[in-house]
Amino acid sequence: MKTELLQKNEVARAAEIIRQGGLVAMPTETVYGLAADALNGAAVANIFRAKGRPMDNPLIVHIAELSQIHALVREFPEKAGILAETFWPGPLTMILPKSDIIPVEVSAGLDTVAIRCPSDATARELIRLSAPLAAPSANLSGSPSPTTVQHVIQDMNGRIDAIIDGGDCCVGVESTVITLATQPPRLLRPGGITLEQLRAAIGEVILDEAVLHPLANGQQAASPGMKYKHYSPKANVILLQGTEEAFLRFVNAHAEDTAAVLCYEEDIPDLQLPYLVLGAAEDYAEQANRLFAVLRQADEKGYQTVYAHCPATEGVGLAVYNRMIRAAGFEVIDLA
Ligand code: AMP
Ligand code: MG
Repeated sequence: MKTELLQKNEVARAAEIIRQGGLVAMPTETVYGLAADALNGAAVANIFRAKGRPMDNPLIVHIAELSQIHALVREFPEKAGILAETFWPGPLTMILPKSDIIPVEVSAGLDTVAIRCPSDATARELIRLSAPLAAPSANLSGSPSPTTVQHVIQDMNGRIDAIIDGGDCCVGVESTVITLATQPPRLLRPGGITLEQLRAAIGEVILDEAVLHPLANGQQAASPGMKYKHYSPKANVILLQGTEEAFLRFVNAHAEDTAAVLCYEEDIPDLQLPYLVLGAAEDYAEQANRLFAVLRQADEKGYQTVYAHCPATEGVGLAVYNRMIRAAGFEVIDLA
């Protein structure tokens, strides 16, 4: 298949492709999404084929206006209204009981549907000109999510109808996912909207176990996506837990030919092996923004082992931790 590369002023062409049941990669503020008409089950099924995504992993439906949600859900609780008013448009996905018009391909057979209203102007225009869009990240399943148009081209050229070049994504990790289908509300995936912000808006929010820990054998995932290996480069990522001094001592003692460090700017003068910079040590938003691009760079450079700081779990750091621990297959070395 020939993939059309479209510019931001060609959204009308992208909308035409969507209306005809095709697949378009679109920029959003989180990561690039691979979009199809959410109410066209056959079109949505092609998303799974293009990505190699397991069919039991449901998709997020993207809307441009809050008013579009009412046809898609059976219930719209008061807390959903507060979250929408506080954080939409933006990087927050809400899970609610689904209405009958949601195709089984979108919900993967669950009784709920995930909904998000993105803030990216191009994504919103595409939705307005076509339909609510089912869209997972526009990468091959299992590889790091795409945060630049080059990443999308690497993974999807020849597999989908079109790609819209919207420049680099500003948040850099996928949306925060909260379910309101169970009480109390539960955070299933951390992202740009933090647990602290959610609690300030609606009170009690439970942190789902799978955010920080691997699922036990046979344990059901509240969010099916959390049971899959994710965000992983080909390199073996190893997280190091300990003081700054212990970190530097360990990595410098492991300066082999094929190893590199995922580091903070502050580490650079003290490193004796190749490095990829995540950002300043305290700047979690910058680390989130660069994480996936840096993981892809590790593969381009052919590193076999990548050592990284174990991230802090506060604010947007929780989202960085959640992605890194999965990229590392939960491998953490305690240096203390
Ligand atoms: P992605 O679109 O690849 O960023 O992934 C969307 C995430 O939301 C995955 O982890 C899904 O498993 C999760 N998700 C989507 N719909 C639901 C739902 N109805 N219930 C629980 N998790 C969901
Ligand atoms: Mg994804």
